[in-house]
Amino acid sequence: MLLEKPPQDIFYLKYADIILPIAFDGFTYLVPPNMEGRVVRGCRVVVPLGKNKIYTGVVLRVHDQQPQGVEMKSIIELLDETPVINEQQFALWLWIAHYYICPLGDVMKCALPGAMKPQDEQALKEKDRKRRGAVPTDIDPYSLRPLNPLSPYQQKALDEIDAGFSQKETVLLHGVTSSGKTEIYIHLIDRYMRQGKQILYLLPEIALTTQMTERLRAFFGDKMAVYHSKFTDVQRLDIYKRQLSSSPYQLILGARSAIFLPFTDLALVIVDEEHEQSYKQQEPAPRYHARNTALMLAHLFRAKTLLGTATPSFEVYHLAHKGPYAYVQLSHRHRDMQLPTIEVVDIKESKRKRQMKGPFSPRLIEVMRQALQRGEQIILFQNRRGFANFIECKQCGWVPRCPHCDVTLTHHKRQETLVCHYCGHTVRLPESCPACGETAFVSRGTGTEKVEENISTLFPEAVTLRMDLDTANSRQQYESIITQFARHEADILIGTQMVTKGLDFDNVSVVGILDADTLLNVPDFRSYEYAFQTLSQVAGRAGRDKSPGLVILQTRSAESDIIKQITQANYWEMFCQQMTERKLFHYPPFYRLIYVYLKHRDDRLLDHLADDAARRLRAVFGERILGPDRPPVSRIQSLYIRKIMIKVEHAASPAKVRESLLAIQRDIMSTPAAKALYIYYDVDPL
Ligand code: ADP
Ligand code: ZN
Ligand code: ZN
Repeated sequence: MLLEKPPQDIFYLKYADIILPIAFDGFTYLVPPNMEGRVVRGCRVVVPLGKNKIYTGVVLRVHDQQPQGVEMKSIIELLDETPVINEQQFALWLWIAHYYICPLGDVMKCALPGAMKPQDEQALKEKDRKRRGAVPTDIDPYSLRPLNPLSPYQQKALDEIDAGFSQKETVLLHGVTSSGKTEIYIHLIDRYMRQGKQILYLLPEIALTTQMTERLRAFFGDKMAVYHSKFTDVQRLDIYKRQLSSSPYQLILGARSAIFLPFTDLALVIVDEEHEQSYKQQEPAPRYHARNTALMLAHLFRAKTLLGTATPSFEVYHLAHKGPYAYVQLSHRHRDMQLPTIEVVDIKESKRKRQMKGPFSPRLIEVMRQALQRGEQIILFQNRRGFANFIECKQCGWVPRCPHCDVTLTHHKRQETLVCHYCGHTVRLPESCPACGETAFVSRGTGTEKVEENISTLFPEAVTLRMDLDTANSRQQYESIITQFARHEADILIGTQMVTKGLDFDNVSVVGILDADTLLNVPDFRSYEYAFQTLSQVAGRAGRDKSPGLVILQTRSAESDIIKQITQANYWEMFCQQMTERKLFHYPPFYRLIYVYLKHRDDRLLDHLADDAARRLRAVFGERILGPDRPPVSRIQSLYIRKIMIKVEHAASPAKVRESLLAIQRDIMSTPAAKALYIYYDVDPL
């Protein structure tokens, strides 16, 4: 009897390819018989790795092909009875891993909230069970605030957006600051909400202030959730699970990580401030661009995408100009407010005549004094935090540098410290020069802290606020500064890039740009594009109800084209001029850039390895390879760095490029010298 019916099952063992949150694509495990049929694509499982590690992974595929020549380990535990990753998410993960040339495990690690890949699953399940008991109140969003009507200009723009969507997947809304772009988004969202569709509204992390979320909450109430990286793991898990349920939020307002939530019926994606560099994740992998990834996500759902900005990125503007994207312009500010007047002050002259008081020209001081007398507020932009750029021994010129990175330490006066802005290394200000014993130091360069000190001598009666990474490190600190300034509790707001981010104050009549050259003199092919964006955005903060604001722009390059283009708000001329150079030198958006980074503790060995890598790359890519070079900061956290640049034409298949790069990487890594070498890629670097 026993021999009549062989137990077929044991001859057809099941295997599962599992993605783990580590820098590999995945590993294959044996599915234990008691889990067969239940371990399916998209479920989470607990698996062993190496001698004594345990990971939570995601099932990518179940099959019956036994991998050859490896010892098989079994899945320990199945965590989900139904998939928690849907097909669009898998498609997006795979696209990211391929396009940005990184392991699938790195994508998973970034995409899932920490609580989805726990070490202590039991404790979290318990926590989660308790929270799930709470039923969200279901109020009718349309009983909330009715929509504020659109102005005729805004209505025209909305009609044009509709016309654009009827023909194309993507629309660029190019609207000057305070033209009411957000109002248009709200109208558009409302319409999709009424159709029962899902909407993803992406904002740069820093722009997700309480003011912004409250503005949307007033219209969309509990149908909307806010999602960003500053939330706790459990808060993010809650939203994730709600999106898997039968009653997901319809509107997700989020920072870049919101693209990784599960959507079921996504119909509209809005990417506000699409030009913002913070949409690109720099560190760690995946080094993805959230705007471009959102476009892919929309594509997977056949959803529409609206990209909004006052200062488009070249990548987007180019496509809007060439035709793939529809283009809608909105050049009227709300309530006919005028764009600010930008007055250029040549500080070369003032410096020579020794008329400068610290970083302040006589003209800026005069304008500030008048504004203060009228009870108006002022914003000062200085793109560097800390007190001084660095300090120098008065006697021998010794300059303190970071022991781990190839940079000088920045002087923070209030804390009496020297800080590395790359790795955070902090030391106390030395009492004397270790080289010669001198006790006097001179400080070089001006940071926001020094500007604040200058003001206390120039305008002792003025109340100042400072907004930079030191004073606005947390969301609470950031919002408290904004609130205080909005309530007129301070006269002058001094800040770095942070003050350029779409803030809306009603009493600011003067904006001072202390040193535009710090943006112009960056050795990067994008520096003028960025300078135009940053300075136009910061200038846009000036202007009160009926009276246009005044911007004082201090520079040593008063006669340059780029400064003229900024003062005249002439985006088109700036674009055309820069594009000529981009084309000539094979830069984006005409070519795709890929940076290959190599890192090693040993500088000389790295030289050798980088040369070898470049030689192998040239054999395949020829003239498209530049380098290896030492980047401007060529050592960070004790690792030396080399960069090889690849310029690829758009016609070249990204898949082929990726394959070639990975094949070359495997060759390099197989040499004994490359044992402790790190290689990674930055695709479409910013
Ligand atoms: P943008 O997003 O283009 O910078 P906003 O949508 O934030 O502009 O609008 C700027 C200001 O003007 C906001 O305070 C907003 O409430 C107001 N505003 C814009 N359009 C309207 C409108 N149609 N009705 C009432 N207020 C509006
Ligand atoms: Zn010295
Ligand atoms: Zn450092």
